[in-house]
Amino acid sequence: MDAATRAEFTALLTERRREAERDAAIRQDALGGVIAARDDPAGGDDEHDPEGATLADEWSRLEGLRIGALRELSEIDAALGRLRDGTFGICVRCGAPIPAERLRARPTATMCVPCASRR
Ligand SMILES: [Zn+2]
Repeated sequence: MDAATRAEFTALLTERRREAERDAAIRQDALGGVIAARDDPAGGDDEHDPEGATLADEWSRLEGLRIGALRELSEIDAALGRLRDGTFGICVRCGAPIPAERLRARPTATMCVPCASRR
């Protein structure tokens, strides 16, 4: 992979990392809001929307989103690490280069398409 392509993916992943970090922070804040609502003795907020999700449902939904954002962060960090050590864009299973179009669509991909579809 040439230096220009590496720079392109470094920029792409750095941008995605910023977004994932912001996402994780937003989810964290939302979870904090659910805790506050649950702990509020006057917080019978469920009454306003009896058909709506209960706090427990909301909690598991937000926790799932938060974990998703954290997982994405760690995948992005791993991809940035591969960019630094020169293994970025090389399929971990067969060692073939992963096409740049695939990496542009999915910069955290660790396998080429044939290997990824042959799990
Ligand atoms: Zn492969």
